Amino acid sequence: MRIKTFEAYQIAYRQSVEDPEGFWAEVAQQFQWRKPWKKVLSWNFNEANVKWFEGGVLNITENALDRHLAQIGNQPAIIWEPNDPEDKAVSISYNVLHDRVCRFANVLKKHGVKKGDRVCIYLPMVPELTVAVLACARIGAIHSVVFGGFSAKSIADRINDAECNMVITSDGAYRGSKVIPMKETVDAALDQCRSVKHVIVMTRTRTPVSMLKGRDLWWEEEVKHVDSVCAAEPMDAEDPLFILYTSGSTGKPKGVVHTCGGYMVYAAYTFANVFQYEPEEVYFCTADIGWITGHSYIVYGPLCTGATSLIFEGVPTYPDASRLWQIVEKHQVNILYTAPTAIRSLMSFGLDYVKGHDLSSLKKLGSVGEPINEEAWHWFKTNIGSDNCPLADTWWQTETGGIMISPLAGITHEKPTFATLPLPGIQPVIVDENGKEIEGNGVSGNLCMKFPWPGIIRTTYGDHERCKQTYFSTYPGMYFTGDGCLRDEDGYYRITGRVDDVLNVSGHRIGTAEVENAINMHLGVVESAVVGYTHDIKGQGIYAYVIAESEPEDAEMFRKDIAATVSRIIGPIAKPDKVQFVTGLPKTRSGKIMRRILRKISEGDMGNLGDISTLLDPAVVEDIKRGAL
Ligand code: ATP
Ligand code: MG
Repeated sequence: MRIKTFEAYQIAYRQSVEDPEGFWAEVAQQFQWRKPWKKVLSWNFNEANVKWFEGGVLNITENALDRHLAQIGNQPAIIWEPNDPEDKAVSISYNVLHDRVCRFANVLKKHGVKKGDRVCIYLPMVPELTVAVLACARIGAIHSVVFGGFSAKSIADRINDAECNMVITSDGAYRGSKVIPMKETVDAALDQCRSVKHVIVMTRTRTPVSMLKGRDLWWEEEVKHVDSVCAAEPMDAEDPLFILYTSGSTGKPKGVVHTCGGYMVYAAYTFANVFQYEPEEVYFCTADIGWITGHSYIVYGPLCTGATSLIFEGVPTYPDASRLWQIVEKHQVNILYTAPTAIRSLMSFGLDYVKGHDLSSLKKLGSVGEPINEEAWHWFKTNIGSDNCPLADTWWQTETGGIMISPLAGITHEKPTFATLPLPGIQPVIVDENGKEIEGNGVSGNLCMKFPWPGIIRTTYGDHERCKQTYFSTYPGMYFTGDGCLRDEDGYYRITGRVDDVLNVSGHRIGTAEVENAINMHLGVVESAVVGYTHDIKGQGIYAYVIAESEPEDAEMFRKDIAATVSRIIGPIAKPDKVQFVTGLPKTRSGKIMRRILRKISEGDMGNLGDISTLLDPAVVEDIKRGAL
């Protein structure tokens, strides 16, 4: 199952294409199944139907917990670093995690949660979040984790969409210097929800909360009165494991459904291989468990691999911008997986925050979430990885369940800004607008997949038609990713941004990510976002929103300088026509730029900006509107 050399990768890849069923059966055999599957794969992309390991029976928590106990029961499964560095970090062994999951699973059962019920989890990044997720999986309840920063309205929408009958939350949350109410927000959400019977409240901040008799229960009280033995519910491989709403950077969030067997196999296989995880390594993913990255690569992938996964409650800039490096030093982190948005933000604080921290424990780095621009790639590699850590730029989506295109750390030759090569089992194709496959190298177009992999989305909750329409109808017979990409002369893939965001300037197709990459290389630029707007002559003009380190003294000159840099790096064709200096960009709570808002502003269409409920800070939109050119 573990690939150790580039030759082994090539062999595995070839085998996975020639005999996908044989390949994945061999991988799946490494896991613990109650009953073996009868059929490895059946699929029909036209109907958006995919089934893996049909007839197989398992419980993912037996793979994430029980099967490790004999060997590594005392090894930390989780290291928890609290928001405040003065507070004590907590280490939770596999034995203890198993015990806590079983107890909490019994609490859920006691309050009527059954296999197939939906449970909404709205918690900060505390160990209880992992416990709650696994407790649901233990009894076959479908978890729907909602990121702890969402508003009451967003929670209500998600609870109602999935008709959850239970909510698990906390009194409050610590995030940097702030104390954020959680239960209060849930209470407001529940005014609009009929389905919820119980709310379990974990104590974190001991903020006063209203507890409704008959509905609300304290976590700490409940776990005292239950047994620590809880048999795992036998689950069919294709029973749903969870629902997770996408981050919504291109539209209304979709309730992506993943199932027990295929998702487990794919998350664990990709974790072990991409990060080349070795026993006892400390692995730190900075994402929130509320996003797919946290599901697959904080919880399920690492735990199914028997890894030690670090969970961080706070933010990278609290108490100051050296926090991540403090954590790396303190816990001797070996693998660090983070996002370009975090890297760019920390870069802007300067190297003083990095210096003086011993980062020598680091062996492997990873990036996810957006195309990583070249400057950030080098900064991360050089200043954090001391130029001797491989950096895996991992491309994937909520819908793919796990990493799809990425280097295997230290094995695949890297190229800055390239996600490089597909993992075994992944068959990418590049198509033109008419859906015709563009073969060969040195080409670009829209990224699709022509064959299923075990982690592929099964449906969008309650609306299979939407799943079909969104992913399987644009190019019949293929899964459409919504992303544009290029494949260079070596067959390496580079994601160029969303297809909707590909610009067409005087007939030249240019990815937003390429232009942003170039702008970000310019001295004094912190971050940028680029969109197209209607241009009388060129068809589309390039509108750039730029955050500068400090307010430019001569804005006009600075604009021209930026254009000169873009012109030098990509070519004069990619020079921005308009550059607006902004103090912030409209980002989703997962850190992605919502370009559709910027597109509307660039067109002067300020009225209806669509669903902005997943925005981190709606106030930046007003600022940008005011300064629009
Ligand atoms: P929605 O589907 O609702 O618009 P979303 O696509 O932002 O939300 P996610 O599933 O979190 O939700 O994001 C997946 C997308 O993130 C990918 O389609 C791609 O555009 C981008 N992405 C993720 N990782 C990378 C990467 N390493 N390089 C380039 N792009 C990436
Ligand atoms: Mg998406």
